[in-house]
Amino acid sequence: MTSILNADLHCHSVVSDGTLTPEALAARAKANGVELWALTDHDEIGGQLRAAAAARALGMHYLTGVEISVTFANETVHIVGLGFDATDPRIMSGLQATRGGRGQRAQEMSAQLAKVGIQGAYEGALKFVGNPELISRTHFARFLVESGVCRDTPEVFRKYLTDGKPGFVPHRWASLQQAVQWITECGGVAVIAHPGRYRFTANEQYALFSEFKAHGGQAVEVVTGSHSPSEYVTYADMAKEFGLAASRGSDFHSPDESHTDLGALPYLSGELTPVWELLAHRIQ
Ligand code: AMP
Ligand code: MN
Ligand code: MN
Ligand code: MN
Repeated sequence: MTSILNADLHCHSVVSDGTLTPEALAARAKANGVELWALTDHDEIGGQLRAAAAARALGMHYLTGVEISVTFANETVHIVGLGFDATDPRIMSGLQATRGGRGQRAQEMSAQLAKVGIQGAYEGALKFVGNPELISRTHFARFLVESGVCRDTPEVFRKYLTDGKPGFVPHRWASLQQAVQWITECGGVAVIAHPGRYRFTANEQYALFSEFKAHGGQAVEVVTGSHSPSEYVTYADMAKEFGLAASRGSDFHSPDESHTDLGALPYLSGELTPVWELLAHRIQ
């Protein structure tokens, strides 16, 4: 397994805020040359059996996956879990609790948008939702594009769905410790997702990495669709500094919205430990 280069360990299906089914993602990954794949829906593992079966049918290696929403230093941070036992009730109940606040949050987002003249956003967003327990900002973004309020989803986030904008509702997710614990106690490895995306000071970022490590976290995404080439270098250095393994994933959501396709990223630098080396015994 250590000869694997084209691993894509981060993407989303209709089970969260992607637009493709697990089966269609598996086929797309295979067509793009992915050798080892993980589906990492937000706060939800309902697609894992389908993804693993589709990968098996295509002769592609698979790791279970999830992307957990966490609140750290008043920011939302994402922690990817890989290789855990997806039938373990401990991770299932933790994720269920994390999903729990999304319905109410969506209603509040809709009420705020109504105040700035955008009516029916909750019902509009629901039309794009594949899993009723997982209504996300992405579904609102698709509605605002469809209804002509904005040109594309980045514009919706810029104008309406980020901190300080009229459709943004602050939310408290899982703690860093909980997320790492759910993943590791179920046999998996916890990974800091796209660290370059958080608006942290150097001190806050240092705290994130050191607390993550202290809780038992073992890896960080270095090569991701969310990082620039210079961030590949920055986070490769951080991985080495903190003694973390490295992960690689496109964060693909949709053929229409994602600029990085499945499997289409530079390989990890040879001086890093690939996260799948820690998970050789969990690869299906
Ligand atoms: P939520 O979990 O409901 O807060 O939604 C978060 C999701 O919104 C992320 O996983 C991305 O898919 C999407 N997202 C966040 N920020 C942006 C952005 N600036 N542009 C496009 N999509 C974004
Ligand atoms: Mn997403
Ligand atoms: Mn994310
Ligand atoms: Mn993601």
